[in-house]
Amino acid sequence: MSFYRILCISLLLLTNLSVFGQEIPKSQSLLDIYILSQDSMQGRRTGEEGAAIARRYLTQRFQELGVQPFGDSYNQEFDFKSRRGVDYTGSNLFGFLPGEQEKYIVISAHYDHEGVKNEQIYNGADDNASGVAGLLAIAEMVSRVDFNYSFIFCAFDAEELGLQGAKAFVSNPPVPLKDIVFTLNMDMISHNNENEIYASGSYHNKFLVPLLEKINEQTKVDVKLGHDKPSEGYNDWTFSSDHGPFHKKGIPFIYFGVEDHKDYHRPTDVYENINEEFFLDVIDMLVLTVQELDASLEEKSE
Ligand SMILES: [Zn+2]
Repeated sequence: MSFYRILCISLLLLTNLSVFGQEIPKSQSLLDIYILSQDSMQGRRTGEEGAAIARRYLTQRFQELGVQPFGDSYNQEFDFKSRRGVDYTGSNLFGFLPGEQEKYIVISAHYDHEGVKNEQIYNGADDNASGVAGLLAIAEMVSRVDFNYSFIFCAFDAEELGLQGAKAFVSNPPVPLKDIVFTLNMDMISHNNENEIYASGSYHNKFLVPLLEKINEQTKVDVKLGHDKPSEGYNDWTFSSDHGPFHKKGIPFIYFGVEDHKDYHRPTDVYENINEEFFLDVIDMLVLTVQELDASLEEKSE
């Protein structure tokens, strides 16, 4: 544990009354959710100080894991206008871990959330501190194992304002888009009482069906396929998170996410309401999926 982390946790303990009486999570992945969803992050709203605090924490985590920046910074700033005509500057954070090939699998999760509304902090523990923790867990695994593909780890900003970070990334990618062979996006992966998580995307890319069925047989969580057909209307999640802009560019994707729950986009989406055991099982499933993808995409291209 770095000095920065100890300092960070100490400050949390000193500044946040809700922490007293609770145990600090013991697993690194749970700790990542815990820290990113603290009140000090102020709901990680695009353009605000809480989002900058989250980026400082993520920069530290990227450095610890050996994730390399393209150029001299992990940051990609971008300007956009919201649907209400407000000007924003967002900031993605991404870097890579090299594999055998200069072909890339993108692992993504948005770190922004709703900020503070009516003096209530929208902490966004499940949405989407959990996905970012998943991204960091995958980076940790990739840093220890030799892979065929190289990996880009993207913590996107401004998803809540219309997938703006992912749109900025695909319009101005750090590597040619033709060299990105796949994207795995996570958005809300820690909160489900039925032990279920959806893998959306196999409708568009049928080669994923046997791969995901195999994963389902090997993992504790129930991996369900679906939420990706145009006929499902509102329940078609093809463009509901940051994989959407990649799909528009013809890049195959899997999006992992749970069904909406009672705390979705509410101030009650806090660490105490996630399902810790479920989330840890999801992490095991994600690690296995990445290993399978790396192996099976290689077979497809041979
Ligand atoms: Zn989200």
